[in-house]
Amino acid sequence: MSEEAQEETQVTAQPGEVSMDQIVSLCKRRGLIFPSSEVYGGLGSTWDYGPLGVELKNNVKRVWWQSVVYERDDMEGLDAAILMHPRVWEASGHVESFTDPLVDCKECKKRFRADHLMGGRCPECGGKLTEARQFNLMFRTHIGPVEDSASVVYLRPETAQGIFVNFDNVRETMRRKLPFGIAQIGKAFRNEITPGNFTFRTREFEQMEIEFFVKPGEDETWYHYWVEERLNWYHRFGIRRERLRLRPHTREELAHYARACVDIEYLFPMGWSELEGIANRTDYDLRRHSEFSKKDLTYFDEEERRRYFPYVIEPSAGADRATLAFLIDAYRRDVVAGRERIYLSLHPALAPIKVAVLPLLRNRPDVVEVARGLHKGLRRRWKTIYNDTAGIGRLYRRQDEIGTPFCITVDVQSLDDRQVTVRSRDTTAQDRIAIDQVERYLSDRTDLC
Ligand SMILES: [Zn+2]
Repeated sequence: MSEEAQEETQVTAQPGEVSMDQIVSLCKRRGLIFPSSEVYGGLGSTWDYGPLGVELKNNVKRVWWQSVVYERDDMEGLDAAILMHPRVWEASGHVESFTDPLVDCKECKKRFRADHLMGGRCPECGGKLTEARQFNLMFRTHIGPVEDSASVVYLRPETAQGIFVNFDNVRETMRRKLPFGIAQIGKAFRNEITPGNFTFRTREFEQMEIEFFVKPGEDETWYHYWVEERLNWYHRFGIRRERLRLRPHTREELAHYARACVDIEYLFPMGWSELEGIANRTDYDLRRHSEFSKKDLTYFDEEERRRYFPYVIEPSAGADRATLAFLIDAYRRDVVAGRERIYLSLHPALAPIKVAVLPLLRNRPDVVEVARGLHKGLRRRWKTIYNDTAGIGRLYRRQDEIGTPFCITVDVQSLDDRQVTVRSRDTTAQDRIAIDQVERYLSDRTDLC
């Protein structure tokens, strides 16, 4: 057994008791998330996912894709282009009404959303404000070398429209009948006036969206189905139920075409905030695209022998927000063997590194050979690291802090009994496992079931 076999753990902080500053600091220190363009002083509210952050975020996207595409038989995937025909955004209503009311301070020149201000004065300096004007949140750019109005295109402000305009392509090529959905993960861009709260609100972000097409009249049932389904998804991958809640939109908040909309909110350090929105968009989108494109996007119902526009239920999640929520919810502190430790109790499917192989004696070639062999075998299936650069206690702490669910130590005894010690992150409990059973042991505990 390794030296921390008798580690005693004592929980000192309730999970979720963490400030955003502590999360930002952990992310920077351990290579999860860095400020973008940092060597140039950074660019406001843009962030780069580092070596461990990209693993974590990829895992969030992977388990979402697995749950909504692979584990279902009524969903197809899609990856549409970020640049789309400008008419798409006229049809969707974004050119006309994807705006925020904006005011500028005449003194300090700072810019605010008029609907976020309490009074008529600048909240920073008390100066006078300009009249509110509508500011479109879409990023504009140009196709080709000439900057005239004919070449204007937008960076998509949502991935949803790529799905709507491909509805017929997907239905036809995959021979789909209602109800069925199309799932997509991709970047979207919004020129937010007040981004902030780390990766919670940024101008460039990644969405995980589903448009689920149903027969009119069955929309309400499917809407409630998807609300439950998506709420359960966050819980399944580790977020405690009491830190999730549903907030139905009021009549005033609803988009004019939406019949119902609810936010799944998480209790972030700055308070309850939206993780995902689920909307009943009725037949608005397909109807509008039919009108603007002059292409018939109705669906022919063979049983009823009639054509109609399908209704759409849209569960729209943010990959960055989900990643942040999983991180915050996993943050734990306790005392192990008399010393405080920080660890991330991430679901094994989300953990950036699944296994760390740690040889107890790095100067013994026979021990190193066994450890290296194990590492080589495991890394074909999982993100695995090999580390012998410090004492075992310190190596454990490093892995705990980045949420590695399992550490495997190889010792002299392993040479005789062909067994290794597997330590679990949350409990620090250790199991002695036959080397040829390690893969089975890990897949039982990390694979999705
Ligand atoms: Zn001011």
